[in-house]
Amino acid sequence: MLQTAENASNPQTDLAFQRCINPACGATYDAHSIRTACDKCGDLLDIAYDWDRASVPTKMSDFEAMWSQRTNPVRFSGVWRFHELLPFARQDQLVTVGEGQTLLQQTDSVGDYVGMNHGQLHLQYEGMNPSGSFKDNGMCAAVTHANMMGAKRAACASTGNTSASLALYCSATRLMRAIIFIGSGKISYGKLSQALDYGALTVQIAGDFDDAMIRVKQVSQELGIYLVNSVNPFRLEGQKTIMFRVLESLGWEVPDWIVVPGGNLGNSSSFAKAFMELKELGLVDRVPRLAVINASGADTLYELVERRGVKWNGGHVNMDPIREYNDLMDREGIRADTIASAIEINRPVNLKKCLRALEFMNGVVRQVSDQEILDAKAKVGAGGFGCEPASAASVAGAKLLRREGVIAPSDRVVCILTGHELKDPTATVAYHTTDQELFNKTLGSRGVTKASHANRAIAVPNELDDIIKAIQLYS
Ligand SMILES: *Cc1c(COP(=O)(O)O)cnc(C)c1O
Ligand SMILES: [Zn+2]
Repeated sequence: MLQTAENASNPQTDLAFQRCINPACGATYDAHSIRTACDKCGDLLDIAYDWDRASVPTKMSDFEAMWSQRTNPVRFSGVWRFHELLPFARQDQLVTVGEGQTLLQQTDSVGDYVGMNHGQLHLQYEGMNPSGSFKDNGMCAAVTHANMMGAKRAACASTGNTSASLALYCSATRLMRAIIFIGSGKISYGKLSQALDYGALTVQIAGDFDDAMIRVKQVSQELGIYLVNSVNPFRLEGQKTIMFRVLESLGWEVPDWIVVPGGNLGNSSSFAKAFMELKELGLVDRVPRLAVINASGADTLYELVERRGVKWNGGHVNMDPIREYNDLMDREGIRADTIASAIEINRPVNLKKCLRALEFMNGVVRQVSDQEILDAKAKVGAGGFGCEPASAASVAGAKLLRREGVIAPSDRVVCILTGHELKDPTATVAYHTTDQELFNKTLGSRGVTKASHANRAIAVPNELDDIIKAIQLYS
């Protein structure tokens, strides 16, 4: 049984500790320390819990009791209403700006496009978060830990949404200053405008995301600035709750597939961690399969897993093909390039955690072209809430897996729509435009040749008769 709110909401912080993901190392560290890698072996870290001493529910539906507590901002939060499953901070330490009020939409029009039986395709719309992307799920957890540690400055490298999220948490809570690193010319205006408007110190590096990531790690180390990229294990704790809310929306039933775009691979990693823990705690009896979808212009995970056979292998990852491929990218100057800027990443920082996720969730990796992404995006817009390009990779990937027969039409599929429609209006307008020049400039250069699902504006003279005629003709 879930404890009363008062009991449950005072977990001892020493329930939580940091642990190296490398089973051959297994080093542990205090939760009250700031680190992004294992001191001993350099691998990534997880947050682990002493569950025997934690107050966890005996069944997921016990969390429904939290709905009646929504006047408490912490329980209103779609992240912290699951606090018992990420108990690294006390309730009075939790930072929230109202994240996680998201919706699982069931849509047959997108389902038809993917090739699913009616009722089986679901879209988890994370664009409803305060900064417009799923990043807020993780940022509230990272900022909570940063604040526990007394941080006054927090930094990230970003393709846009992480910076928008960090900037929002800093402006709304005034707890610390946001410092964001972005690549030049790679960020959509929707996202950049948020960071600027929320007052973040914005550092534009002459390079791309992968360059900015290297620099922000160096700078935060040098200056003692708290880093909130997804190498931060506390951030990934918050992102587990996306899965909890998916289950909640499905009446606590486990779907067959989770399909998610893959960039730095924090989401996919955290989803698997959520299910590992739910399984261990006896809160679910089965685990969905995972599909991680790369853009074909940023397909390192696909290349390594599906072409070069890289596996988690119980933690004994063969690093040779990874090193070889990194060297190849260096040698040939291969740079990530896709309209889906949020996943325009060639050196995903959570690669190893994602390999573990793929093993645990019997996962697959696929890549989809910018053409497929934009077509899927138009379908998501026409049949739902819309999304930004990277998010639509999930739907395009589901369609591909359906076509391959990997996903059955009768499977219950959840595609994660990671970001809001309005994040990147440039891509949307260019797809629907009648202006061939704009289309060519924005999309043609990326191998997009047609806009089969475009909804084009009709041009009419400023004459009442012509306007009426046009409306009657087209509606
Ligand atoms: C960050 C982001 C991604 C990539 O998620 P990872 O966890 O880095 O794999 C995908 N879509 C959107 C909209 C994002 O902001
Ligand atoms: Zn280690």
